[in-house]
Amino acid sequence: MTWRVVFGSVDPYVKLLLDAMKHSGCAVNKDRHFSCEDCNGNVSGGFDASTSQIVLCQNNIRNQAHMNRVVTHELIHAFDHCRAHVDWFTNLRHLACSEVRAANLSGDCSLVNEIFRFHFGLKQHHQTCVRDRATLSILAVRNISKEVAKNAVDEVFESCFNDYEPFGRIPHNKTYARYAHRDFQNRDRYYSNI
Ligand SMILES: [Zn+2]
Repeated sequence: MTWRVVFGSVDPYVKLLLDAMKHSGCAVNKDRHFSCEDCNGNVSGGFDASTSQIVLCQNNIRNQAHMNRVVTHELIHAFDHCRAHVDWFTNLRHLACSEVRAANLSGDCSLVNEIFRFHFGLKQHHQTCVRDRATLSILAVRNISKEVAKNAVDEVFESCFNDYEPFGRIPHNKTYARYAHRDFQNRDRYYSNI
């Protein structure tokens, strides 16, 4: 089964991130920066910082909407990698920060996804979801205890949860993401006129 690529995608999350990458001097090239592979377990994607490649797990991606979300999640890591000196391999807090941002901004914790996971109705619900998913993401790539992963997420949570770049807001659904994209384009226009 094949899912349509991202490029020329109408998905506003993906569009905004590709624009933001370009704007930061890290234009994404679909042949060089994406690789489709079979992955172990139920992992759906990953970002390989050593090659700046996004891995899409063709055996675990279920449909186009899922594909868009995975690409969005991994593009947030690529964006962090581009704009900051992220020390992915030795600094657990850096990894934790990017996982918090990816869970928060990619739609991984948007209501409809959560309803499917039967977690509906909690107050602090979005934040709880972001914490849990960031912890799980760390555990998928680091051989450490759940407690250590959780502590790293707690340490960075406040500042990383409130860092909405490049969305400028938490894009809870496609409408928000479309607004975010429009604002990003206007911001771009404004700066280029200075
Ligand atoms: Zn991640």
